[in-house]
Amino acid sequence: MSIRIKELKMLFERISSFGREENGGITRLSWSPSFLEAQRFLENYMKEIGLQTRIDTFGNLMGTRPGKEERPPVFCGSHLDSVPNGGAFDGALGIIAALEVMRSWQEEGFDPLRPVTVVAFAEEEGTLFNGHACMGSRFLTGELDLQARDIFRTASGTSLRELVSCYPAQSPDFFPLEPINRGSAYIELHIEQGNLLEEKGLQAGIVTTIVGIRHFTLLIKGRANHAGTTAMHRRQDAMVAAASLITFIYQRAKSADNTYVATNGRIEASPNAENVVAGEVRLSVEIRAERMEIIERVFDEIRNQISCVEQEFVVTVSVCGKNDLLPVPMDESLIRIMEKCAGETGLPYLKMPSWAGHDAMIMARHMPTAMLFVPSIEGISHAPEERSRFEDIEQAAILLDKTLRTLVCAGV
Ligand SMILES: [Zn+2]
Repeated sequence: MSIRIKELKMLFERISSFGREENGGITRLSWSPSFLEAQRFLENYMKEIGLQTRIDTFGNLMGTRPGKEERPPVFCGSHLDSVPNGGAFDGALGIIAALEVMRSWQEEGFDPLRPVTVVAFAEEEGTLFNGHACMGSRFLTGELDLQARDIFRTASGTSLRELVSCYPAQSPDFFPLEPINRGSAYIELHIEQGNLLEEKGLQAGIVTTIVGIRHFTLLIKGRANHAGTTAMHRRQDAMVAAASLITFIYQRAKSADNTYVATNGRIEASPNAENVVAGEVRLSVEIRAERMEIIERVFDEIRNQISCVEQEFVVTVSVCGKNDLLPVPMDESLIRIMEKCAGETGLPYLKMPSWAGHDAMIMARHMPTAMLFVPSIEGISHAPEERSRFEDIEQAAILLDKTLRTLVCAGV
């Protein structure tokens, strides 16, 4: 096998140098100077290893190894942007591993039947546009259109149009460059960002599903009143009712044996004053699970609990802003190919869901898609301490190599 750990390390070091903070974290926000420098480095590297490069007008970088036949390419890669002060492995690793596979093919002179396109997406993290994630893959697949340039603005008011003006328009008003719903498959290697693989002592994860997410807000209405003169038995305290719901949601999820996760990440109290019993509280709830039935069951449990809380604390609780992101199953035939390849190399793996969103979620709507996870040390991610072992990365790259070879030789 011609995957080299030395080359993987070298590429990792180079990419990590763009946007490196003093504390070791990475800040490489889309279209920032460090992002553009990293992109230029990657574009040159792609050329060096024989790939044909292009950058679309959104800032997604692609490098293609042509196939012997004109067929829809197999896409492989991940995102180049990071969260503020994030880790060096998130996103970058998927690009690095795909490039190392392409370097080894170039060295070997391996000509695939079908082209392979390595893609480095822009703006996956949702940092710039108020949580709107996976923007690069949504542009590449044509899910976002021309108007988006003027709709999306950063918190400081800069429009997407201004941000992407660093890329020359390929033709007047043609954006994105070219919807690519003709791709034959998409494979994304990524760090796990959790610690299940480490706990089980396994070297790779083959993703079955990207979990579904339900967001909603609980609006708890009690009565604002004087913090001194209102006797405890006369209170209609929205804050205490919220605390009771938070505890219930947390405890239920904790005892659910990892079948789902639930989070209350944001709370707003009114009037939010030290000497006033809270009259109103807005509490965010987020539930993630592999199947919608689980989410529905948890949602029903919370609704039942709401009736108890309403009685106990003399408040009313309503559910608003309910929004679902459905689970995205990965392609079964790609999962089987990956399992077979892992079996051939003797790589111990786990079939597992992805608890985080990825570009693969978008790509799966347009082509068969699969994901491969590398263990994260102590499950730390989106932080400077994010780490993975290069021995694991090497094994994952070998599995990626075998999987891609199988796909590009398939005459489908
Ligand atoms: Zn990521």
